Amino acid sequence: NAKRRGQGHFVLYSVEMEKAAKTATRIEQALRRAIAADEVEPYFQPIVDLDSRRIIGFEALARWTDPEIGVVMPATFIPIAEERGFISQLAQKVLRKAILAARDWPDDVYLSFNLSPSQLVDQQTVSQIKGILASTGFDPRRLEIELTETGLMTDPRSAAKIIEELRDHGMRIALDDFGTGQSSLGRLRDFRFDKLKIDRSFVSSMLEDQPSEHIVRAIVALCEGLRLGVIAEGIEQEEQAQLLMSLGCSEGQGYLFGAPIDASAALLLVHAQDKALSA
Ligand code: C2E
Ligand code: MG
Ligand code: MG
Ligand code: MG
Repeated sequence: NAKRRGQGHFVLYSVEMEKAAKTATRIEQALRRAIAADEVEPYFQPIVDLDSRRIIGFEALARWTDPEIGVVMPATFIPIAEERGFISQLAQKVLRKAILAARDWPDDVYLSFNLSPSQLVDQQTVSQIKGILASTGFDPRRLEIELTETGLMTDPRSAAKIIEELRDHGMRIALDDFGTGQSSLGRLRDFRFDKLKIDRSFVSSMLEDQPSEHIVRAIVALCEGLRLGVIAEGIEQEEQAQLLMSLGCSEGQGYLFGAPIDASAALLLVHAQDKALSA
């Protein structure tokens, strides 16, 4: 009986796995076509100075709508491009488009771009990014590169080398989703970052949950001591922004200040801000 039930489970499991693999393959094919047709677009989410609420940067976030499948979110398609070996093609196209959009912003507004784990084991990543910067004439000091702790772990030496080369070229490195995943404080000693991004999970619960507030407080203090910039992600309420400011967090990002928007809307937004400030 137990054996039969076991077999039944095995059959069910493998059917589920087969379905997942089929879906991934369908997405892979559609995504490869969309990349070739240049249909994956960067959207831009504002990053603000919490005191003045001025937009000081935008994070580029990939967006893709397939004519048949519909909207596919990056949490679904980025891992597929990673696992199936074409993330660098996707990333280069999206970075180039993001930079072309960012060139029209005021010089003091930066662009932040996410690197995937597999790009941190690929030594071609640096020359690809440098090539895009050179061909677009974009100042590397206006480009921030976000990476995650998971991405550092596959091959820490390769990641460290890539980080150093990007920094030597003038880019800043931000550690994304800090405090989740495979967090280790040793990482802050072994790699040179310019900024930590406090994960949304702490920010969204910090008003109700004492431990979350204490963790945020500790991360901000850590950044102060290590002379790192700090940014809180996923701010949705004014009370969260107020608490973060009182803790000394300088930069923020979240739906309170704006969701990701397309290039033309982002351009309108920074221009409106400049007009309001000079009026
Ligand atoms: P991430 O880099 O941590 O980006 C922040 C995510 O949180 C984005 O989701 C953003 O839309 C969402 N978000 C921002 N503010 C709020 C808020 O106030 N509340 C809530 N609930 N969510 C908020 P998105 O665009 O779906 O991207 C998910 C992840 O996919 C990103 O997480 C990043 O890891 C990855 N990703 C997106 N675009 C790219 C890309 O071009 N390249 C790579 N390698 N990864 C990307
Ligand atoms: Mg990010
Ligand atoms: Mg993040
Ligand atoms: Mg995140």
